[in-house]
Amino acid sequence: MSNTINNKPHRRYNILTGEWILVSPHRTKRPWQGKKDQKSELQKVAYDPNCYLCPTNERASGDVNPDYKGTYSFTNDFAALLPDVEPEQYKEGLLQAETEMGICKVVCFSPNHALTLPLMEVEEITNVVKLWKEEYKSLGEKKGINHVQIFENKGAIMGCSNPHPHGQIWSQSSIPQEVVKKQEKQKEYWEANNSSLLQDYLKQELELKERILLENDHFVALMPYWAVWPYEAMIVPKEHYQDISQLNEKEEVAFAEIIKELTIMFDNLFETSFPYSSGIHQRPTDGGKHPEWHFHMSFYPPLLRSAEVKKFMVGYEMFANPQRDITAESAAETLRGLPKVHYSKK
Ligand SMILES: [Zn+2]
Repeated sequence: MSNTINNKPHRRYNILTGEWILVSPHRTKRPWQGKKDQKSELQKVAYDPNCYLCPTNERASGDVNPDYKGTYSFTNDFAALLPDVEPEQYKEGLLQAETEMGICKVVCFSPNHALTLPLMEVEEITNVVKLWKEEYKSLGEKKGINHVQIFENKGAIMGCSNPHPHGQIWSQSSIPQEVVKKQEKQKEYWEANNSSLLQDYLKQELELKERILLENDHFVALMPYWAVWPYEAMIVPKEHYQDISQLNEKEEVAFAEIIKELTIMFDNLFETSFPYSSGIHQRPTDGGKHPEWHFHMSFYPPLLRSAEVKKFMVGYEMFANPQRDITAESAAETLRGLPKVHYSKK
Protein backbone atom coordinates (compact mmCIF):
# COMPACT_ATOMS: atom_id res chain seq x y z
CA MET A 1 0.00 0.00 0.00
CA SER A 2 1.44 3.39 -0.96
CA ASN A 3 1.93 5.87 1.81
CA THR A 4 1.65 9.49 0.70
CA ILE A 5 0.65 11.05 4.00
CA ASN A 6 4.09 11.32 5.63
CA ASN A 7 4.73 14.88 4.44
CA LYS A 8 1.28 16.17 5.35
CA PRO A 9 -0.21 16.84 8.79
CA HIS A 10 -1.66 13.50 9.86
CA ARG A 11 -2.75 11.42 12.84
CA ARG A 12 -1.17 8.11 13.78
CA TYR A 13 -2.83 5.37 15.77
CA ASN A 14 -1.18 3.72 18.77
CA ILE A 15 -2.16 0.04 18.52
CA LEU A 16 -1.14 -0.57 22.13
CA THR A 17 -3.21 2.12 23.81
CA GLY A 18 -5.89 2.98 21.25
CA GLU A 19 -4.80 6.63 21.35
CA TRP A 20 -3.94 8.99 18.48
CA ILE A 21 -1.01 11.33 17.99
CA LEU A 22 -0.85 14.35 15.66
CA VAL A 23 2.23 14.50 13.37
CA SER A 24 3.18 17.84 11.75
CA PRO A 25 6.25 17.13 9.59
CA HIS A 26 5.99 20.49 7.76
CA ARG A 27 6.69 22.29 11.02
CA THR A 28 10.30 21.21 11.69
CA LYS A 29 11.83 24.48 10.43
CA ARG A 30 10.11 26.46 13.19
CA PRO A 31 12.63 28.78 14.95
CA TRP A 32 13.22 28.03 18.63
CA GLN A 33 12.99 30.85 21.16
CA GLY A 34 11.80 28.72 24.02
CA LYS A 35 13.36 27.42 27.20
CA LYS A 36 16.89 26.04 27.27
CA ASP A 37 17.88 23.59 29.99
CA GLN A 38 21.29 22.77 31.38
CA LYS A 39 23.25 20.20 29.38
CA SER A 40 23.54 17.04 31.43
CA GLU A 41 27.20 16.10 31.92
CA LEU A 42 28.65 12.68 32.70
CA GLN A 43 29.56 12.13 36.36
CA LYS A 44 33.27 12.07 37.13
CA VAL A 45 33.66 10.51 40.60
CA ALA A 46 33.15 6.79 41.25
CA TYR A 47 32.24 7.45 44.87
CA ASP A 48 30.36 10.44 46.27
CA PRO A 49 30.32 10.68 50.10
CA ASN A 50 27.04 12.64 49.93
CA CYS A 51 25.19 10.15 47.70
CA TYR A 52 22.58 8.05 49.53
CA LEU A 53 22.99 5.23 46.98
CA CYS A 54 26.78 4.79 47.06
CA PRO A 55 28.05 1.74 49.01
CA THR A 56 28.68 2.20 52.79
CA ASN A 57 26.81 5.55 52.90
CA GLU A 58 24.03 6.28 55.36
CA ARG A 59 20.54 6.97 54.01
CA ALA A 60 17.96 9.40 55.44
CA SER A 61 16.26 6.49 57.20
CA GLY A 62 19.45 5.82 59.18
CA ASP A 63 20.06 2.56 57.30
CA VAL A 64 23.57 2.07 55.99
CA ASN A 65 24.13 0.67 52.48
CA PRO A 66 26.29 -2.46 52.44
CA ASP A 67 29.61 -2.38 50.60
CA TYR A 68 27.85 -3.87 47.57
CA LYS A 69 29.90 -4.88 44.54
CA GLY A 70 27.24 -5.45 41.86
CA THR A 71 23.55 -4.63 42.02
CA TYR A 72 21.70 -3.75 45.21
CA SER A 73 18.00 -3.26 45.95
CA PHE A 74 16.19 -2.03 49.04
CA THR A 75 12.74 -0.78 50.06
CA ASN A 76 12.35 2.92 49.25
CA ASP A 77 12.78 5.07 52.37
CA PHE A 78 10.16 7.48 51.01
CA ALA A 79 7.83 4.95 49.44
CA ALA A 80 4.72 6.18 47.61
CA LEU A 81 2.97 2.95 48.60
CA LEU A 82 2.97 1.09 51.90
CA PRO A 83 2.59 -2.66 52.51
CA ASP A 84 0.38 -2.57 55.61
CA VAL A 85 -2.70 -0.72 54.34
CA GLU A 86 -6.03 -2.45 54.98
CA PRO A 87 -8.52 -2.54 52.08
CA GLU A 88 -11.06 0.23 52.48
CA GLN A 89 -13.56 1.82 50.11
CA TYR A 90 -15.06 5.28 50.22
CA LYS A 91 -18.07 6.32 48.22
CA GLU A 92 -20.28 9.29 48.83
CA GLY A 93 -22.36 10.65 45.99
CA LEU A 94 -19.94 11.20 43.16
CA LEU A 95 -16.84 10.95 45.33
CA GLN A 96 -15.06 7.66 45.19
CA ALA A 97 -11.79 6.33 46.60
CA GLU A 98 -10.13 3.15 47.76
CA THR A 99 -6.98 2.35 49.68
CA GLU A 100 -3.99 1.08 47.75
CA MET A 101 -1.28 -1.17 49.18
CA GLY A 102 2.11 -1.78 47.68
CA ILE A 103 5.87 -2.07 48.02
CA CYS A 104 8.32 0.38 46.43
CA LYS A 105 11.94 -0.54 45.93
CA VAL A 106 15.09 1.17 44.69
CA VAL A 107 17.45 -0.81 42.45
CA CYS A 108 21.08 0.31 42.26
CA PHE A 109 22.55 -0.82 38.92
CA SER A 110 26.18 -0.45 40.00
CA PRO A 111 28.26 0.64 43.02
CA ASN A 112 30.08 3.08 40.70
CA HIS A 113 28.50 6.54 41.04
CA ALA A 114 29.95 7.68 37.68
CA LEU A 115 28.33 5.01 35.53
CA THR A 116 25.08 4.90 33.56
CA LEU A 117 23.65 1.99 31.56
CA PRO A 118 25.44 2.97 28.29
CA LEU A 119 28.77 3.08 30.16
CA MET A 120 28.31 -0.23 32.00
CA GLU A 121 29.65 -3.55 30.68
CA VAL A 122 27.13 -5.96 29.12
CA GLU A 123 27.89 -8.41 31.94
CA GLU A 124 26.97 -5.76 34.54
CA ILE A 125 23.74 -4.86 32.72
CA THR A 126 22.92 -8.59 32.54
CA ASN A 127 23.06 -8.61 36.35
CA VAL A 128 20.57 -5.73 36.39
CA VAL A 129 18.27 -7.79 34.13
CA LYS A 130 18.65 -10.76 36.51
CA LEU A 131 17.72 -8.56 39.48
CA TRP A 132 14.67 -7.18 37.61
CA LYS A 133 13.58 -10.81 37.00
CA GLU A 134 14.04 -11.74 40.66
CA GLU A 135 12.17 -8.67 41.91
CA TYR A 136 9.35 -9.13 39.40
CA LYS A 137 8.91 -12.73 40.61
CA SER A 138 9.32 -12.23 44.35
CA LEU A 139 7.21 -9.05 44.55
CA GLY A 140 4.61 -10.50 42.19
CA GLU A 141 4.24 -13.60 44.35
CA LYS A 142 3.39 -11.57 47.42
CA LYS A 143 -0.22 -11.59 48.58
CA GLY A 144 -2.15 -8.61 47.24
CA ILE A 145 0.52 -7.53 44.72
CA ASN A 146 -1.13 -7.66 41.29
CA HIS A 147 1.25 -5.52 39.30
CA VAL A 148 5.00 -4.83 39.31
CA GLN A 149 6.22 -1.70 37.51
CA ILE A 150 9.96 -1.58 36.78
CA PHE A 151 11.20 1.84 35.64
CA GLU A 152 14.13 4.24 35.49
CA ASN A 153 14.06 8.03 35.61
CA LYS A 154 17.34 9.33 34.26
CA GLY A 155 18.57 12.91 34.37
CA ALA A 156 17.76 16.08 36.30
CA ILE A 157 15.51 17.20 33.42
CA MET A 158 13.28 14.20 34.25
CA GLY A 159 13.18 15.20 37.89
CA CYS A 160 15.68 12.57 38.93
CA SER A 161 17.29 13.77 42.12
CA ASN A 162 20.36 11.52 42.12
CA PRO A 163 22.76 10.74 39.23
CA HIS A 164 23.83 7.40 40.80
CA PRO A 165 22.82 4.65 38.30
CA HIS A 166 19.55 3.33 39.66
CA GLY A 167 15.95 2.54 38.88
CA GLN A 168 12.80 1.87 40.83
CA ILE A 169 10.14 -0.77 41.18
CA TRP A 170 6.65 0.08 42.37
CA SER A 171 4.46 -2.92 43.01
CA GLN A 172 0.83 -2.62 44.04
CA SER A 173 -2.60 -4.19 44.42
CA SER A 174 -4.38 -2.49 41.51
CA ILE A 175 -3.34 -2.53 37.86
CA PRO A 176 -2.23 0.95 36.73
CA GLN A 177 -3.99 2.79 33.89
CA GLU A 178 -1.27 2.59 31.21
CA VAL A 179 -1.09 -1.16 31.73
CA VAL A 180 -4.86 -1.57 31.63
CA LYS A 181 -5.01 0.26 28.28
CA LYS A 182 -2.30 -1.92 26.73
CA GLN A 183 -3.80 -5.07 28.18
CA GLU A 184 -7.20 -4.32 26.67
CA LYS A 185 -5.78 -3.69 23.18
CA GLN A 186 -3.57 -6.78 23.25
CA LYS A 187 -6.46 -8.90 24.52
CA GLU A 188 -8.81 -7.68 21.77
CA TYR A 189 -6.19 -8.59 19.18
CA TRP A 190 -5.35 -11.94 20.75
CA GLU A 191 -9.01 -12.94 20.86
CA ALA A 192 -9.64 -11.86 17.26
CA ASN A 193 -6.45 -13.27 15.69
CA ASN A 194 -5.04 -15.79 18.15
CA SER A 195 -1.62 -14.18 17.80
CA SER A 196 0.41 -11.57 19.64
CA LEU A 197 -0.26 -7.98 18.60
CA LEU A 198 3.36 -6.97 19.13
CA GLN A 199 4.79 -10.03 17.40
CA ASP A 200 2.73 -9.26 14.30
CA TYR A 201 3.69 -5.59 14.53
CA LEU A 202 7.35 -6.59 14.79
CA LYS A 203 7.04 -8.70 11.64
CA GLN A 204 5.72 -5.72 9.69
CA GLU A 205 8.42 -3.38 11.06
CA LEU A 206 11.19 -5.87 10.20
CA GLU A 207 9.92 -6.00 6.62
CA LEU A 208 9.70 -2.22 6.26
CA LYS A 209 12.96 -1.51 8.15
CA GLU A 210 12.11 2.21 8.34
CA ARG A 211 11.90 2.47 12.10
CA ILE A 212 14.26 -0.33 13.19
CA LEU A 213 17.15 0.94 15.32
CA LEU A 214 18.88 -2.27 16.40
CA GLU A 215 18.40 -5.99 16.12
CA ASN A 216 20.05 -9.07 17.61
CA ASP A 217 19.08 -12.77 17.77
CA HIS A 218 16.43 -12.23 20.43
CA PHE A 219 15.44 -8.54 20.51
CA VAL A 220 14.56 -5.61 18.28
CA ALA A 221 14.84 -1.93 19.23
CA LEU A 222 12.64 0.35 17.15
CA MET A 223 10.97 3.69 17.11
CA PRO A 224 7.26 2.92 17.27
CA TYR A 225 5.11 4.23 14.39
CA TRP A 226 3.04 6.16 16.93
CA ALA A 227 6.04 7.59 18.89
CA VAL A 228 5.11 10.70 20.87
CA TRP A 229 8.54 11.70 22.20
CA PRO A 230 11.03 12.93 19.55
CA TYR A 231 13.36 9.92 20.02
CA GLU A 232 11.03 7.47 21.70
CA ALA A 233 12.11 3.84 21.43
CA MET A 234 10.83 0.40 22.31
CA ILE A 235 12.71 -2.87 22.88
CA VAL A 236 10.63 -5.92 21.97
CA PRO A 237 11.59 -9.60 22.37
CA LYS A 238 11.18 -11.67 19.19
CA GLU A 239 9.76 -14.51 21.26
CA HIS A 240 6.19 -14.08 22.49
CA TYR A 241 6.99 -13.77 26.20
CA GLN A 242 4.48 -12.38 28.65
CA ASP A 243 7.07 -11.24 31.18
CA ILE A 244 10.83 -10.99 31.77
CA SER A 245 10.94 -14.03 34.08
CA GLN A 246 10.67 -16.18 30.92
CA LEU A 247 14.02 -15.01 29.54
CA ASN A 248 16.74 -17.68 29.49
CA GLU A 249 20.41 -16.88 30.10
CA LYS A 250 21.24 -16.17 26.46
CA GLU A 251 18.24 -13.88 26.16
CA GLU A 252 19.20 -12.01 29.34
CA VAL A 253 22.55 -11.18 27.73
CA ALA A 254 20.88 -10.21 24.43
CA PHE A 255 18.51 -7.91 26.36
CA ALA A 256 21.48 -6.31 28.17
CA GLU A 257 23.32 -5.85 24.85
CA ILE A 258 20.46 -4.08 23.14
CA ILE A 259 19.85 -1.85 26.19
CA LYS A 260 23.52 -0.85 26.09
CA GLU A 261 23.54 -0.20 22.32
CA LEU A 262 20.32 1.81 22.41
CA THR A 263 21.43 4.00 25.33
CA ILE A 264 24.80 4.61 23.59
CA MET A 265 22.84 5.82 20.53
CA PHE A 266 20.90 8.15 22.80
CA ASP A 267 24.03 9.57 24.49
CA ASN A 268 25.75 10.03 21.12
CA LEU A 269 22.84 11.96 19.60
CA PHE A 270 23.67 15.23 21.40
CA GLU A 271 26.89 14.07 23.13
CA THR A 272 25.26 14.31 26.51
CA SER A 273 24.14 11.92 29.23
CA PHE A 274 20.74 11.47 27.55
CA PRO A 275 17.79 11.84 29.93
CA TYR A 276 14.78 9.57 29.67
CA SER A 277 12.13 7.63 31.52
CA SER A 278 12.15 3.95 30.67
CA GLY A 279 9.87 1.20 31.87
CA ILE A 280 8.96 -2.41 31.31
CA HIS A 281 5.35 -3.25 30.56
CA GLN A 282 4.50 -6.89 31.11
CA ARG A 283 1.85 -9.30 32.38
CA PRO A 284 0.26 -8.30 35.69
CA THR A 285 0.96 -10.62 38.64
CA ASP A 286 -2.74 -11.10 39.39
CA GLY A 287 -2.63 -14.86 38.87
CA GLY A 288 -4.00 -14.71 35.31
CA LYS A 289 -2.13 -16.38 32.42
CA HIS A 290 -2.58 -13.36 30.12
CA PRO A 291 -1.50 -15.00 26.84
CA GLU A 292 -2.27 -11.68 25.11
CA TRP A 293 0.68 -9.95 26.78
CA HIS A 294 3.96 -9.41 24.91
CA PHE A 295 6.41 -7.73 27.25
CA HIS A 296 8.38 -4.69 26.06
CA MET A 297 10.55 -1.90 27.38
CA SER A 298 9.79 1.68 26.37
CA PHE A 299 12.06 4.71 26.50
CA TYR A 300 10.54 8.19 26.63
CA PRO A 301 13.34 10.77 26.21
CA PRO A 302 12.31 14.44 26.35
CA LEU A 303 15.15 16.03 24.31
CA LEU A 304 14.07 17.62 21.05
CA ARG A 305 16.77 19.40 19.07
CA SER A 306 19.84 19.69 21.32
CA ALA A 307 21.10 18.75 24.78
CA GLU A 308 19.44 21.90 26.12
CA VAL A 309 16.07 21.94 24.35
CA LYS A 310 13.38 19.55 25.44
CA LYS A 311 9.89 18.87 24.23
CA PHE A 312 7.05 20.19 26.37
CA MET A 313 3.77 18.35 26.61
CA VAL A 314 1.61 21.45 27.06
CA GLY A 315 -1.24 23.35 25.43
CA TYR A 316 -2.79 21.24 22.69
CA GLU A 317 -1.18 18.14 24.18
CA MET A 318 -2.75 18.73 27.57
CA PHE A 319 -6.15 19.52 26.13
CA ALA A 320 -6.34 17.40 23.00
CA ASN A 321 -3.68 14.78 22.25
CA PRO A 322 0.10 14.51 21.82
CA GLN A 323 1.75 16.10 18.77
CA ARG A 324 5.19 15.84 17.18
CA ASP A 325 7.04 17.56 14.34
CA ILE A 326 9.79 15.23 13.07
CA THR A 327 8.40 11.88 11.93
CA ALA A 328 9.40 8.66 13.66
CA GLU A 329 11.08 7.55 10.41
CA SER A 330 13.40 10.54 10.14
CA ALA A 331 14.23 10.38 13.88
CA ALA A 332 15.05 6.67 13.50
CA GLU A 333 17.28 7.43 10.53
CA THR A 334 19.17 10.04 12.58
CA LEU A 335 19.73 7.56 15.43
CA ARG A 336 20.81 4.76 13.07
CA GLY A 337 23.47 7.04 11.55
CA LEU A 338 25.25 7.63 14.87
CA PRO A 339 28.58 6.02 15.88
CA LYS A 340 28.28 2.77 17.84
CA VAL A 341 31.00 3.72 20.34
CA HIS A 342 30.11 6.02 23.25
CA TYR A 343 31.27 9.58 22.60
CA SER A 344 33.25 9.69 25.86
CA LYS A 345 35.40 6.76 24.64
CA LYS A 346 36.34 8.20 21.26
ZN1 LIG B 1 26.36 7.34 44.37
